[in-house]
Amino acid sequence: MTITEKLKTVKKQIENAAVKSGRNPEGIKLIAVSKFHPAEAVCEAFESGQVLFGENRVQEAAGKFDEVRKIHPAAELHIIGSLQRNKVKEAVRIASCIHSVDRLELIEEIEKQCDKIDKTIDVLFELHTGEESKSGFENENQISEALEAFTDGRFPHVNPAGFMTMAPFTDDKARIRESFTILRECRNRLQEKFPAFNLSELSMGMSGDFEIAIEEGSTMVRIGTAIFGERDYSKA
Ligand SMILES: *Cc1c(COP(=O)(O)O)cnc(C)c1O
Repeated sequence: MTITEKLKTVKKQIENAAVKSGRNPEGIKLIAVSKFHPAEAVCEAFESGQVLFGENRVQEAAGKFDEVRKIHPAAELHIIGSLQRNKVKEAVRIASCIHSVDRLELIEEIEKQCDKIDKTIDVLFELHTGEESKSGFENENQISEALEAFTDGRFPHVNPAGFMTMAPFTDDKARIRESFTILRECRNRLQEKFPAFNLSELSMGMSGDFEIAIEEGSTMVRIGTAIFGERDYSKA
């Protein structure tokens, strides 16, 4: 199958999962995760109507999207992987949202770099919900403290938009679902605690588990393999 055909299949699956759980499919954004795939693959997806992409490594993303945008300036990019402080400057230049904010120090750096280029960026707070992954805030309380830091206007260029998680790598669907439920409940409590922010986004679900994520309220699914095929890590 071509990228165009796979994209169409994935969109249909998203729609079916939404309808099955009584949700409006328009409430779910598809992020086409193009890491390890070349600019040509991104262009092919864009030409089939996909505007929003995700990358987890800033350096790879910068080269690729500078190239893609020469042809398709409207291509939108989210950074979905854990971010080192020294990559923030480049990340905020190329992306409109960072999904993987996992410490206050990172928010301070994002503010500093966005201020320099007079840009406002969306961020999602990553919560650690599965045992295997090490990324993300350890618990809801830490995210609550980070949100507290926003309330005195310290980060005018950073817009808290919601939450992100990675489910554990397992075939155990109950454990995967639990991870998504934890994130949704966290969002509900923190939204109630911080009504001044719109924390509605839930970035959860990948190629293997996006249907469960949609049933649990996902608003952004991050799908790579099902659109672009297997990644060739030997080219890293
Ligand atoms: C690579 C990646 C994805 C996409 O994974 P697939 O299984 O290929 O769909 C989603 N989220 C993050 C954070 C990733 O790094």
